[in-house]
This record gives sequence, structure tokens and C-alpha cells, in this order.
Amino acid sequence: MNKFDPSIPRQMFWAKSAGDRSYCPECHSKLENESHEFIMAVREASDIHSLIVGNDAGYFCPKCPTVVLDIGPFRESAAISFGRDATIQFTVLGIVDLEAVPEEKRFMPLGEEGNPIPLVKFIKKRGTDTNPQRKAKAKAKAKKKRRRGRKP
Ligand SMILES: [Zn+2]
Repeated sequence: MNKFDPSIPRQMFWAKSAGDRSYCPECHSKLENESHEFIMAVREASDIHSLIVGNDAGYFCPKCPTVVLDIGPFRESAAISFGRDATIQFTVLGIVDLEAVPEEKRFMPLGEEGNPIPLVKFIKKRGTDTNPQRKAKAKAKAKKKRRRGRKP
């Protein structure tokens, strides 16, 4: 049994450094590490695949619905499934609530007809982009535009 209930929708932050995994960015409580299953969306060229990964990259806040994720294990999972192509982008959509799968369906593969993946999506906070790769790309684009606008 998990201490942190996967059925609670949480807001997600990426840990930008090891220090970010210690305290909650919202309420400054001490975060606790726990292993969970997550769903990633991975974009490979124009295709988007979903990928279920179980890892201990989540650092949960005991006081508020916040989770801080270590990007490393997710990057690694995307690389194992789709290769180390620099064009591959991914994000983590939420946590899989395995407890929500009815007992009689637990033998079935998740995501198959009649056994939908019990995804508990992360709460989107206004003004925060949960995908650092997309953010970097947008920044690069903005730079390009500025350069183009300048007169030679
Ligand atoms: Zn908190």
C-alpha cells in the first residue's frame, strides 16, 4: 500500500536540481520519496505514444497535493523505448491509480479494451509549462524570430 494516494490529483514540478527534491515548492514541507507508476506521453516525429513507467522519481508532499519529479528516470525510459533521438519529446501526464482497476480485470493488460488505464492527471497550474523541452524549443524559436527581425 502506498502512503501517497495515487487517486489524488497533484500538481507536478520538475526537480531542476537535487535540492529541489527536499522541500515542497508550494508549502515548503519536507518531501517524501515513493515509488509509483506514471504515464508519459512521448512524441516521436508526428506520433504520440503513451508509456507507463514505474519508478521512484516522485517526491511527494505530505501536506498538499504536490509532487516533484526527477526528470532523469523518465528520460531514460523514453530512451529505452524510443531510442536516444534528440527530436523525441516527452511529458508526464499523471499517475496510474492501480488500486482503481477492478480486481477481476487485474490480469488484463492496462489500456486494452474494457480495461482503461486509470490515469489521474496532474493539475495544470496556470502559467507553468510542465514540459521543459517544449519551453526550450519555444525560447529558441523566439530568439530566431528576433534575429530575423533585425536589419543587417
Ligand atoms: Zn506542499
